[in-house]
Amino acid sequence: MEIEYIETWEEPQRICVILAHPDDPEFFIGASIARWVKLGHTVIYCLLTCGDKGTKDRNLSAHDLCNMRQIEQINAAKVLGVNEVQFLNYPDGGLFPDLNLRKAVTRIIRQVKPDIVITCDPQNIFMGDYRINHPDHRAAGQAVIDAVFPAARDHLYFPELMTEEKLEPHIVKELWVSLPVNPNVKLDVTEYWDQKIQAILQHKSQIADTSELIQRMKSRFSEESTIESPRYIEEFRRVRLQM
Ligand SMILES: [Zn+2]
Repeated sequence: MEIEYIETWEEPQRICVILAHPDDPEFFIGASIARWVKLGHTVIYCLLTCGDKGTKDRNLSAHDLCNMRQIEQINAAKVLGVNEVQFLNYPDGGLFPDLNLRKAVTRIIRQVKPDIVITCDPQNIFMGDYRINHPDHRAAGQAVIDAVFPAARDHLYFPELMTEEKLEPHIVKELWVSLPVNPNVKLDVTEYWDQKIQAILQHKSQIADTSELIQRMKSRFSEESTIESPRYIEEFRRVRLQM
């Protein structure tokens, strides 16, 4: 498979990032998002949950954590230049790629009408040798892919979206999948890496040790680069549905 190193979009694109949790956009693809905003594209987030189980603090309720994480997500998005963030508020850990979730994502796609939809790879179960990919990430990726094609495109899928909500079918031009098992795009996002780290740092409830996190992020330079001259990349599987 041939690897691409650039998006090659000539016109400003409308990009909808649909992922499971607050902080997923920044950790997975924050530098690419900063790049796209800088290049004049419009980025909109849709988070399927509000991450209401992401704490070890036994005095913090799921409700309060949800509110906290929504605010953190909105602040992180602003650091990257993203001003539109939607939350569907499914329970954290409760995503399953069934027809209900597919319909909810289809509704978002028909409302937002993006050129590009971005999600994460449902085939990614093991991340390296030491981590298991969160089941919500896989469920979100599967539901988004299935909504992009064919449910958002074809009017007979979820017909009540048209008849009751006046949402016309929508054709997505490209699907971009982050955390890909088989990448075919590698964007050099070195000049946006610090902005990505600054955005991640907005997720204060998720960070135990700020300096450790900064060090860890800075150590993730690409294999071809060096400590003295680090280069950073973010990878995707790109599917051009419409050339
Ligand atoms: Zn997550």
